[in-house]
Amino acid sequence: MGNSISSYITIAALSGVLNLILFFFASLKKSNFSGIRYYALNAIASAIYAWGFAFELASRSLDEIKFWVAVEYLGMPFAPPLCLLIAMHYVGMERRLRGAWKLLMFVIPAISFLLVATNDYHHLFYQSIYLREGAPTPMADIKMGEWYIVHGSYTFGCLFAAVLLLARHWTKTKGAYHLQLGILIASMLVPIVAAFVYLMGLTPNGMDPVPVLTCLTTALSAWAIFTNRMLTVVPVARDTIFESMRDGVLVLDSDGRLVDYNHAAAAMIPSLGYPDVGRSIDEIWREKSGSSFPLCLAGDRDEREFADEQTRQHEHGGQASQGMQGAQDRQDVQGRQSALDEQAALADQVEQQIEWPGKDGVFYYRIHSAAVRKPNEARPGRIVTLIDVTEQRRLQQNLQLLAYYDGLTRIYNRTRFLHLSKEQLERSAAAGEPLSILLFDIDYFKQINDTYGHDVGDEALRHVVSICSRALGPDALFGRYGGEEFVLCLPSAGMEAAAACAEQLRRDIADSPLSMPDGDIRITASFGVAEVSEAANSIQALLREADKALYRSKEGGRNTVRLAGA
Ligand code: GH3
Ligand code: MG
Ligand code: MG
Repeated sequence: MGNSISSYITIAALSGVLNLILFFFASLKKSNFSGIRYYALNAIASAIYAWGFAFELASRSLDEIKFWVAVEYLGMPFAPPLCLLIAMHYVGMERRLRGAWKLLMFVIPAISFLLVATNDYHHLFYQSIYLREGAPTPMADIKMGEWYIVHGSYTFGCLFAAVLLLARHWTKTKGAYHLQLGILIASMLVPIVAAFVYLMGLTPNGMDPVPVLTCLTTALSAWAIFTNRMLTVVPVARDTIFESMRDGVLVLDSDGRLVDYNHAAAAMIPSLGYPDVGRSIDEIWREKSGSSFPLCLAGDRDEREFADEQTRQHEHGGQASQGMQGAQDRQDVQGRQSALDEQAALADQVEQQIEWPGKDGVFYYRIHSAAVRKPNEARPGRIVTLIDVTEQRRLQQNLQLLAYYDGLTRIYNRTRFLHLSKEQLERSAAAGEPLSILLFDIDYFKQINDTYGHDVGDEALRHVVSICSRALGPDALFGRYGGEEFVLCLPSAGMEAAAACAEQLRRDIADSPLSMPDGDIRITASFGVAEVSEAANSIQALLREADKALYRSKEGGRNTVRLAGA
């Protein structure tokens, strides 16, 4: 008996040392593998447990025993929830768990420790703890208290849950990783079985074998982690890549339900959380964005429609090129086959741009959806990637703004105006409708600049534009032709209507002086109007005509409207 106790003490102390080494080793490796901190903590918890146990066995009085038991409980109750976290990490669940939930997992262990340390005052953990009679060295026997049952259930519960999680993962894991997964499961099953055997009173001398066995479990997991590198490398690589991606990733099953997502996706889709896993993506999307999920990205049915369309396009293009090549029958068959192949390939990859209303304005995402097929499943799941193209879109919009609009007045610049009015002229000509061009120039503008300065000149230009913009209908095209010269294209307006419009604008400008702190500045403008005719049937010709009329308007005393050909 004495001998066997000495060997127990030796093995327990050794187990403590081994666990401490593992702890340091794991701490050093921390940067390689986020989940390794749970191994490290588990090792330190096991080391405390094993040493406490060694000292308990070496104790000479009940008080000493009680003290070392309390030390054991500083480590032991924390190990099972740590094992559960290791398992959750391995199957990819842990990163979904909020920090607060992880902390909650250690509440019962903390209470267990406190109750053991203060047991003499309440006897909630041990109803009684007393020295075993007739033992060669002082050994304690116990009667369980209420909390002992809570602690025991929680301990077994955590370990069972860990084993179940890992076992469920077995079929999802490639054969090459079954050995490491098996070792991990074994390292969690050993303490369960040992504790069970102990509680059934089947261990030699009624000794608790678990602290001694932590030596074995630690060695098993150490071997799994450090010799079988895959254990560390595979989940780490997957986790790190998935989570550090700048693009959001959503994994959907064949029914369009969310299976997994990464940090970036959670940042892009506000309030996307673990409870959304298992819900249909359309439901999630509708709830969070207010619009339905882009259909062609979702799955089967729409994928087929998309493929059909692609095939139609392909056939259309195919006919034209066949005509040019002079078709040969064999090539024809090959062509059709490759069309079918292409159709299948296209259906697998779908891309679309969407707008997402965010707190700080609209975000633009390019969504790429790719089918993922399992070997024996007909319907594919999908991996949906969200790429934030907001910056790109804003840049594009700014460039467009610069390319199309005048920087000072925000109306069309000359180039854009010419482009749009040419298009409008073609439409009007096709519809047999009239169209007029109206050119106007601010009178004595140089004087405004010279008298009040360039800034006031700028203000005057904006002032005139805002007066005109208010008066114009939605169809009118309004552009800055140059310096203080403006141009209008009035669709569906003949000479009479255009002259009336010019007269109205002339009056509005003349009647709305620019208010400045030093007083009002009166502004007037001279107008020239031209209508489409057989002689003037291009925008350039119309501009020439309008310019001549404008010149006459200036010559005629300014602040007037003159009509081409009049
Ligand atoms: P008129 O009645 O014959 O049109 O006389 P005017 O003084 O308006 O004509 P002129 O062509 O001699 O002067 C136009 C002035 O407009 C000259 C130019 O410095 C000024 N100008 C052109 N573009 C801008 C601008 O963007 N801002 C300001 N403040 N002035 C401008
Ligand atoms: Mg002028
Ligand atoms: Mg001018």
